[in-house]
Amino acid sequence: MRIIVEVRDLPPGCAASYTVASYVRAVLKFQALRRELADAALEVASRKRVLARRSQPVAADLEAFTAGHRCHGPLIAETGALTLNGYRLTVACPCGLTFGRWVTPEEAVRDLTLGRLN
Ligand SMILES: [Zn+2]
Repeated sequence: MRIIVEVRDLPPGCAASYTVASYVRAVLKFQALRRELADAALEVASRKRVLARRSQPVAADLEAFTAGHRCHGPLIAETGALTLNGYRLTVACPCGLTFGRWVTPEEAVRDLTLGRLN
């Protein structure tokens, strides 16, 4: 993301001290905001890298489980109570194995955003 803001220099004849002081204050504020924006952009980039390094999305884990167990019979999916921290997802296979995973709200949104859950 790149934001460019053009600020003109003071026009001739507008050099009264209060005008200059206002101009300097505005420039200093602008520079501070630009630094803050740059810091925020770095923070966003850092958080995006952390999210990208996290474990596989729930949908990818679930797809791997269902692909390996679909031939064993009908799979039974259940979700636990919805809490502020997410919910428990289980998928039971007739062979006795059960896929279980805690799904955080962020993961649910990410999977939905990626269009992996239908
Ligand atoms: Zn199975």
